Amino acid sequence: MIQFERVSKRYEEGHDALREISLEIARDELVFLTGHSGAGKSTLLRLIMLMDRPTRGKVRVDGRDLSTIGSRGIPLHRRQIGVVFQNHQLLYDRNVFDNVALPLVIAGYDQREIGRRVRAALDKVGLLARERALPVTLSGGEQQRVGIARAVVGRPRILLADEPTGNLDPNLSAEIMSLFEAFNQVGVTVLIASHDLALISRLQHRIITLRDGQLMGGAA
Ligand code: ADP
Ligand code: ADP
Repeated sequence: MIQFERVSKRYEEGHDALREISLEIARDELVFLTGHSGAGKSTLLRLIMLMDRPTRGKVRVDGRDLSTIGSRGIPLHRRQIGVVFQNHQLLYDRNVFDNVALPLVIAGYDQREIGRRVRAALDKVGLLARERALPVTLSGGEQQRVGIARAVVGRPRILLADEPTGNLDPNLSAEIMSLFEAFNQVGVTVLIASHDLALISRLQHRIITLRDGQLMGGAA
């Protein structure tokens, strides 16, 4: 589903954020991406969602070489990818329903379909009862689940998460990871950047480790 072929990324200041990364993530996988702060985890995720382009090498998603996608093709490419951030990036003046509906509104879905899909997504993350709540009235774990519902509401084939448990205590972090596992079990390819080694090493999934932009052993 996701392939990197000798991918390097050098930022303008001359710093190599990624060096010769080759890896492959299969359709049915949930993979953790770990490494110290500055190791290149976010950069790797940004290349997959075309928020950035590699300096050298090839990135493929679902067999498609991303260098063949021009700027006009980016919105369509992103529609197959759901993204979850550490700080939720919720709109605090909109309720839970409206936050989750946002990607569908932007994509131009009609009202009925939006209602149906938003409630299906809220149901999956256990927040159906809170659809009218404002984000500030929710706990940190609930806010993160709103972020996950928003990421999956368009039924993406790929789910990317950047430190999704960064602000949560261990129990809530484990709950959030089980949600990702549930989406993986229904066929979503999941890639989670996390430096919570205690948590991710307890879960039975492949771990890819970056150090100074390079892959440590273990990735195919
Ligand atoms: P991580 O997510 O593992 O903390 P990042 O991918 O954010 O690592 O960063 C990798 C390296 O690239 C770091 O040294 C960081 O300072 C640098 N970097 C990240 N984004 C940019 C940018 N937009 N411009 C310049 N350097 C950047
Ligand atoms: P519906 O067909 O009513 O939308 P589904 O159970 O098929 O109900 O999906 C509901 C929700 O499941 C979606 O809105 C989305 O939140 C989440 N989802 C995301 N990706 C997938 C997937 N590949 N398969 C099933 N559900 C997914």
